[in-house]
Amino acid sequence: MAELILKDVCKIYYKNKKPVEAVKSLNLKCRDGEFVALLGPSGCGKSTTLRMIAGLEDITSGDIYIGDRRINDLHPKDRNIGLAFENYALYPPLTVYDNIGFNLRAKKIPEKQIKEEIHKIAELLDITDLLDMKPAALSGGQKQRVNIARALIRRPEVLLLDEPLSHLDGKVRQKMRTEIKHLHTEINCTTIIVTHDQLEAMALADRIAIINQGVLQQFGTPLEVFNNPVNEFVAGFIGEPPMNIFNVVAIMENGILHFKTENSLIKFVVPEKYIRFVKEGEKYRFGIRPTDITVCREDDSYTVKTKVSVFENLGEECRIHIRLDNDNILSVVSSEIFHFKYGDEIKLKFNPERIHIFDCKTGQRIEKALQMT
Ligand code: ADP
Ligand code: MG
Repeated sequence: MAELILKDVCKIYYKNKKPVEAVKSLNLKCRDGEFVALLGPSGCGKSTTLRMIAGLEDITSGDIYIGDRRINDLHPKDRNIGLAFENYALYPPLTVYDNIGFNLRAKKIPEKQIKEEIHKIAELLDITDLLDMKPAALSGGQKQRVNIARALIRRPEVLLLDEPLSHLDGKVRQKMRTEIKHLHTEINCTTIIVTHDQLEAMALADRIAIINQGVLQQFGTPLEVFNNPVNEFVAGFIGEPPMNIFNVVAIMENGILHFKTENSLIKFVVPEKYIRFVKEGEKYRFGIRPTDITVCREDDSYTVKTKVSVFENLGEECRIHIRLDNDNILSVVSSEIFHFKYGDEIKLKFNPERIHIFDCKTGQRIEKALQMT
């Protein structure tokens, strides 16, 4: 168990002699025993980061530490790291038992001790019944468990998981997710999981590092990144269905500052907490989550009267979609079940406490954007 620290870590690949900056000055401090998710779209540099930590890829610049040990120049096998990738890469001719024991045998550990260790880890992952089987006979979930057992048998200080659930579908994926979380509480080893699935990151991690185009956007707990996204990218990436984000302009009406969409379909008073950041005549990116809009009957400063475009009843919740303009649909998710149809008039209330405002040019959360200038 140990802290894992990345200091200004960069990675430049050369593709046809042209540099590709896969990871740009990444700083990350994972606490001892912490479960961290690296989250971001495909190609943002997650696997590259993991591979640099594991020592499978050179670091262009920067430093990586496990505890107070700088590991930049250590051989992968000397880093005390366990690795499990998405493609299980189990040796097909070997049984599960021999697959798990492979690395211990390579270290010339006595056979009796290997046997004990394999049985201990197999019990932990609930794969004792599979030990005599060959990989081809296993289901996806079982293969992934063997894969993780193989990574854990070395008793690593740091466990790295690269999209371990991406090959699994539906229910198996859900189940395996719960098992990984449970496993982490048992072994309590500093763990980094790479995923492009925000829900997976939210469900598993103590903290999430959200990366876009090689740049760390935000590192925080699931609640922090959900409630207080630092920029429009994070706001749009976290949450399903995604946050509604559209253009508004600030106008003065009867001496009161209002936000309104260009076509005036939405217009209401600027919430108190934003008054000091918002300038009359300026354009902003306005964000609100579908669950932060409610269907209401009364009128107040935060209600909007509009018409239903699409209505979906999903049983435990219903979803109402409103066309704002050619490019934008406003979605509402309600746990109270309604029955609407196309064209029905509807009143919506936007929770003023849950509105997010971003700078049009930089995408930064407005409170932050102003702090930086
Ligand atoms: P992710 O895991 O987030 O999907 P990767 O870390 O695999 O992303 O890739 C990040 C970027 O680096 C991508 O633009 C990818 O094309 C590039 N890249 C990854 N591996 C190599 C490589 N071996 N050679 C050249 N470019 C690479
Ligand atoms: Mg990857």
